[in-house]
Amino acid sequence: MSLRVYNTLSRQKELFSPVRPGKVGIYLCGPTVYKSPHIGHMVGPVIFDAIKRYLKYKGYDVTWIVNITDVDDKLIDAAAKQNIGVPELADKYTAEYLDCLNQFGIDAIDRFPKASEHMGEIIEFCQKLIAGGFAYAADGSVWFDVAKDPGYGKLSNRKVEEQESGLRELEGQGKKNPADFALWKAAKPGEPAWDSPWGKGRPGWHIECSAMSMKYLGETLDIHGGGIDLMFPHHENELAQSECASGKPLAKYWLHNGLTRIKTKLPSGQWADEKMSGSIGNVVSAKELLDSHGPELLRYMLLSTQYRRPIEFTEEVLTNSRKGLSVFARLLERIERLTGKPLAEDAPDMDAAAAALLESEVGNFARQVLADKMRFLEMMDDDFNTAAAISVLHDLAGSVNSFLEQNRAEVNRQADVLQAAAAATQTVRHLGQILGLFRPDIRRPSAKEPAMVDQLMVLLIRIRNDARKEKNFALADLVRNELKTMGITLEDRPEGTGWRKD
Ligand SMILES: [Zn+2]
Repeated sequence: MSLRVYNTLSRQKELFSPVRPGKVGIYLCGPTVYKSPHIGHMVGPVIFDAIKRYLKYKGYDVTWIVNITDVDDKLIDAAAKQNIGVPELADKYTAEYLDCLNQFGIDAIDRFPKASEHMGEIIEFCQKLIAGGFAYAADGSVWFDVAKDPGYGKLSNRKVEEQESGLRELEGQGKKNPADFALWKAAKPGEPAWDSPWGKGRPGWHIECSAMSMKYLGETLDIHGGGIDLMFPHHENELAQSECASGKPLAKYWLHNGLTRIKTKLPSGQWADEKMSGSIGNVVSAKELLDSHGPELLRYMLLSTQYRRPIEFTEEVLTNSRKGLSVFARLLERIERLTGKPLAEDAPDMDAAAAALLESEVGNFARQVLADKMRFLEMMDDDFNTAAAISVLHDLAGSVNSFLEQNRAEVNRQADVLQAAAAATQTVRHLGQILGLFRPDIRRPSAKEPAMVDQLMVLLIRIRNDARKEKNFALADLVRNELKTMGITLEDRPEGTGWRKD
């Protein structure tokens, strides 16, 4: 099996082969920290967290960098409105962003370089481009000369003439060509500024990514990621700057994720489907979502769509995700009820148990589980198709449940059947963990509720059983029927009464 990834640059799936054997460098464009993160800001980190985990599973040594843009027009405007300094504003929203990542359990990012801490590298980068004839200084600013780069536009497939209209706001200030973009901006009064050979100023947005990705990941990194909305102008300009400076490709593979789309009701009563964005004002705060739904559900929801497609964000999608995720929780509960003990984190999965099981009566089931595991890996090898991989996990959970039913495991409790089912469930857990799901250390906001629900169910079952003993069938039936309307079924088994939620 070999990994293939869709490269935006070539517009096709390519065999993945890193620049340096065994090592992978990933650069993901991070946030501009001028406001609280919304769920759209978490999409890239959740996807690339799964990508890094999968690459590590395949044996690669992975370094993942996410930059923090803490110098930008948006920060300057927001700080002025809040009447605080730019560094104070940046610190506040950087902390919020890191806190959200932390709550999501995204701990695989190796470094978060800040633009404000890399002025030396950024200025050197500008000087290198000027020396190479790819950039020029004018009135205290430095501009990239797109006419000097014959490859300009190759990532987004645009011609220079088409871009001029999109860049009108940068016109004037000594530019040769309307499509030229700023590497360094001359300071305006009251703005944060750094000394440079061209006077006081600050960097443009694109140059910081070129300077920091080169510093931490070398001249050619393996995977450059970001939302599809960053492809132009940001990534196109990063690519132009880096490749003109080094004469080498900036990234071997460009991966672009789809954007979060939200359904909103129009005044006409129709539903409109639009990109979630701060400027439209339809953003959903990441913190609010984490508080109300917990990280696992959101992660599951975000990974249930192949990363290149737009992610629909609606109540219905959340409800379906909750249902989907509960399949795995119910399977685990069933196994633990049958075996009478928790399924330990270090319990054997099907790979570990296969030697003992393959030649036994349950050999066919064990073989099927191992085949499904291979199918999961094939899906991940197909451009990190997490959506298809999750559906294999559902197939696996379904197979375990059918296997238990066929063997009437609740009644017979055969040792080999329970052992095989537990190993298969552990395989489901291990594969899910590659996607960042089913992690033992992740915060589950409802963790206390199941314990409480369990206690209440024990009490209700006792009341019903006592009622039956006293021949108060009206009360016993009332308990059973009322629970039924709540989707809870009581099951009278030889060992006592159990319950399950539909
Ligand atoms: Zn960037």
